[in-house]
Amino acid sequence: METKQFQAESKRLLEMMINSIYSQKEIFLRELISNASDAIDKIYYKALTDDQISFNQEDYFVKISANKADRTLHVVDTGIGMTKEELESNLGTIAKSGSLAFKNENEMKDGQEIIGQFGVGFYSSFMVADKVVVYTKSLNDEQGYKWESTGVEGYTIEPYDKEDVGTEIIIYIKENDEDVNYDDFLDEHQLKTIVKKYSDFIRYPIKMDVTEQKPKSDDDDELVEVTEEKTVNSMVPIWRKNKQELTDEDYNAFYQEKHFGFDNPLTHLHISVDGMVRFQSILYIPEQLPYDYYSKEFEKGLELYSNGVLIMEKSADLVPDHFSFLKGIVDSEDLSLNISREILQQDKQVKLIAKNIEKKVKNHLQSMLKNAREKYEKFFEAFGRQLKFGVYSDFGANKEKLQDLLLFYSSQEKKLVSLAEYVDRMPEDQKYIYYASGESHDRIEKLPQTEMLKDKGYEILYFTEEVDEFAIKMLMNYKEKEFKSVASGDLDLDDEETKKEAEKQKEEHKELLDHMKTLLGNKVKDVRLSTRLKSHPVCLTAEGDVSIEMEKVLKAMPD
Ligand code: ADP
Ligand code: MG
Repeated sequence: METKQFQAESKRLLEMMINSIYSQKEIFLRELISNASDAIDKIYYKALTDDQISFNQEDYFVKISANKADRTLHVVDTGIGMTKEELESNLGTIAKSGSLAFKNENEMKDGQEIIGQFGVGFYSSFMVADKVVVYTKSLNDEQGYKWESTGVEGYTIEPYDKEDVGTEIIIYIKENDEDVNYDDFLDEHQLKTIVKKYSDFIRYPIKMDVTEQKPKSDDDDELVEVTEEKTVNSMVPIWRKNKQELTDEDYNAFYQEKHFGFDNPLTHLHISVDGMVRFQSILYIPEQLPYDYYSKEFEKGLELYSNGVLIMEKSADLVPDHFSFLKGIVDSEDLSLNISREILQQDKQVKLIAKNIEKKVKNHLQSMLKNAREKYEKFFEAFGRQLKFGVYSDFGANKEKLQDLLLFYSSQEKKLVSLAEYVDRMPEDQKYIYYASGESHDRIEKLPQTEMLKDKGYEILYFTEEVDEFAIKMLMNYKEKEFKSVASGDLDLDDEETKKEAEKQKEEHKELLDHMKTLLGNKVKDVRLSTRLKSHPVCLTAEGDVSIEMEKVLKAMPD
């Protein structure tokens, strides 16, 4: 038996791994299960395509068992196994060493954090192990082998007579210390939870011996402990299933299982894309506004899977801010398991996925607005503000994407209307889209400036949220119609005759106006005659682009 050194690079990574205080040590199990699943994939494919190999569905599984007495955790698979050479090259080096290169480039950053985010495959088992032993027999070799390592010291390989093709990995779990309760990794219940959390949708059964209290027999209620082998994962990911096979209840159940919210989803989208990038996704819009939604604490993001294996619980890069209310999962076979948060941000595939999602969600909302108005309004009551923020914060860059999703309260309809609806029914002589800002619909209703417009049969949009007017300023216009505040100096309502008459009046009353201006001092900028008042003697207007309401907001903002 010979002891071999790990390659220099692997050794360094291993050192970091062992010393890692990364909190999610439990991900080692995800890595081992995903390797097992990969290995089964390989033999499964062979069995399906090679007549020489007998094929039996039940032969393909992963089995996890713990032995508290000797502190070992066993992960057994019926996959393709490894030859001696494969053991050398696969477990003696790091298959994908990109992580270490990345670590070197970012030496200043917290090393442990970075390791944790990578999930560096097989080596991650050393986060919880004093020693790891691998028994394996390849489909392509009569002889089996035993690989053993206690970490940085190196590893040994020796022949071992293993009966079945496949791999058994034995993790000698560390003793508890102040920081970590390693016993968790020997606890049946905890292990089951970890499997469910990270590997629920692995295609092959993950079996465990599950102990339960059960009545002794049909006629005897006395409880006895029964241990049975059970499959703990659900195996087929819901997002891989056919939409036609799934009911609203299925989608709701998945929403609950994933703890996306305590409510039921208002709507869901099931996306399957097979183009430049391949991915499946299930997205939800919650029915209720999450309590922290409009606060700094709120974190957007979707669960990200690489081929059925969870790689990130909240990937923010998948959703734009204006759709940050989305909950759900994305699974792509085009993503590497060992991808970091930092790399993810620049990843071309991820960008493609994000773009696709944005488009699909936009279309979904648009068709909801058209075909399920009530539902859409419910959505808009909760998340409309976010859409308006989206218009505002991107300096109008999202105009095309978002303008048709906006709703405003209308003087005419006394309910929410879209800009398209407004413009489509504008009288021919109306030039602008008029809006009025105020604290409430009631207050706006009473604004003197609205009277003339209503008389002319012009519809007015009521802005009661601070962001409304800011968003509109960014949009500038809709279908070439500019927005105009009823409070702006020039409403451009009058015909030529009225204008001339107004000029004349202005001259005639110049003295009076000047006198009033002097009296009011610097409380006002100007005093003018108005043609737009009807039953009110006077009104205040704002000069330029900023309305009185906006001015209030701007003044209240910290500098
Ligand atoms: P990755 O899975 O990203 O390639 P890992 O460190 O997880 O990196 O695994 C390294 C390699 O070791 C795998 O690519 C595979 O060839 C081999 N391997 C690991 N576990 C098993 C297993 N259970 N059965 C067969 N081969 C395995
Ligand atoms: Mg792996």
